[in-house]
Amino acid sequence: MTTISFTAKTCIVCRAEHEYTEIDSTMVFDSPDLDSRPPEMMRSTIFAWVQCCPACGYCAEDVSKAPKQAKVIVKSTQYQAQLADPAMPELANHFLCQAMIHEHAGDYAAAAWAIVHAARVCDDEEKSESAKTCRIRAANTVLRAIAAGQEFTEQRGAETVIPADLLRRAGAFAEARTIIARRRPGITDSTILRLLAFQDSLIARGDVARHTLDEAMGEDE
Ligand SMILES: [Zn+2]
Repeated sequence: MTTISFTAKTCIVCRAEHEYTEIDSTMVFDSPDLDSRPPEMMRSTIFAWVQCCPACGYCAEDVSKAPKQAKVIVKSTQYQAQLADPAMPELANHFLCQAMIHEHAGDYAAAAWAIVHAARVCDDEEKSESAKTCRIRAANTVLRAIAAGQEFTEQRGAETVIPADLLRRAGAFAEARTIIARRRPGITDSTILRLLAFQDSLIARGDVARHTLDEAMGEDE
């Protein structure tokens, strides 16, 4: 089961104190998605993965910490507009604001993950167009992270599997195919090659649905 606690924290941007929910422990049953989204029960703890200060709107994994310039970004018109974007669920806006802070700090890998989380929130709220927008942006940010020499994931090969899945689920099949074709020659891991072959078959049939790693590995039949 999932256990939570409440922790009082002081926002580093505006010094307001507020109680935030934290996940102390959780469990996973079943297989993760192709984009690495964990299964239940961890899947449902996403609401606690970003904190948003109710006073100033600063969004972070931990509002008591901030990279340089966070104060300036939080006060910007662009940030405040993102925080209140009516096209996105509230929690997705929190992740997108978090991404904006990471982007300004030059941490594209962290920004990409925050945008991936925003896409997942849109899925949960059944906002498919918003989810699509987030996935395209997330895939581009992953590529930006890779180009900047940043590690998007510790899992070898996942830096190909994840953006390909993000693009496929956004319906950007040509772009997904290009990433796979470009990066496959450098991959020797048989699991990753199998995941990419599965991704190819989904792209070929125009499938934009969520699929799991077990399905790709043929363990779900
Ligand atoms: Zn604040």
